[in-house]
Amino acid sequence: MVRITKRVRIAELLEPEFFGSVLNHNVTVIENGPNGGLMIIDTSLPENFDTLEKFLKSWGYSISDISDIVITHSHVDHFGNAERIKKEAKAKIYAHELEEFKVEKVDFDQVKKTLKDVDQDEIKKTLDRINNMKIEIPTVDVKLKGGEELSGFKVLHVPGHTKGHIALFGEGVLITGDAVRNVGELTPPLEFFCWDYEQAVNSFKFLASLPYKVLIPYHGELVYKN
Ligand SMILES: [Zn+2]
Ligand SMILES: [Zn+2]
Repeated sequence: MVRITKRVRIAELLEPEFFGSVLNHNVTVIENGPNGGLMIIDTSLPENFDTLEKFLKSWGYSISDISDIVITHSHVDHFGNAERIKKEAKAKIYAHELEEFKVEKVDFDQVKKTLKDVDQDEIKKTLDRINNMKIEIPTVDVKLKGGEELSGFKVLHVPGHTKGHIALFGEGVLITGDAVRNVGELTPPLEFFCWDYEQAVNSFKFLASLPYKVLIPYHGELVYKN
């Protein structure tokens, strides 16, 4: 639990068995969203719903205080709780108009080819978990193009990881979703998970060049710059 600025907090959630390691999810929570309540950027997985609720409670809020849900892109670790929160809180969902939301099964052989160093049992365990999650597909209320402003945060279209990936930038805080990764070092997303890797690298360079004070990648550690 980190408070970044007066309005911005991070709920750090964990995916404990992710191909032999632990993957974190930095869910950003911003006060005074466009519809007056909390604006949440990405939502993690159903298995983390209760922990997200606990974070909100420890800050004096509840799920029903969320009024705006921004989804950076159409991967399940980002949209997994969006529809549930929307229903419980009567919140609006925002995403780029080019994003297509669906739940795709991940193929064992393809992963094995890419993650050569990871134990096969670990791959199997992770895929069993991922491929059996019950996920509701979010219904998007506000389709974005990039260039909009959401409560002081500018929407940036940063394609590459997916077609319609977005980032948010405001008050010195840059929320990058998966367009920037900081697991060990600051890098573009993993090539294997990208729709168009060349565009992903360009988007990464663009985001890294912005005059941010703090960069919040969805996976990995925050980056502070003076
Ligand atoms: Zn992703
Ligand atoms: Zn992700």
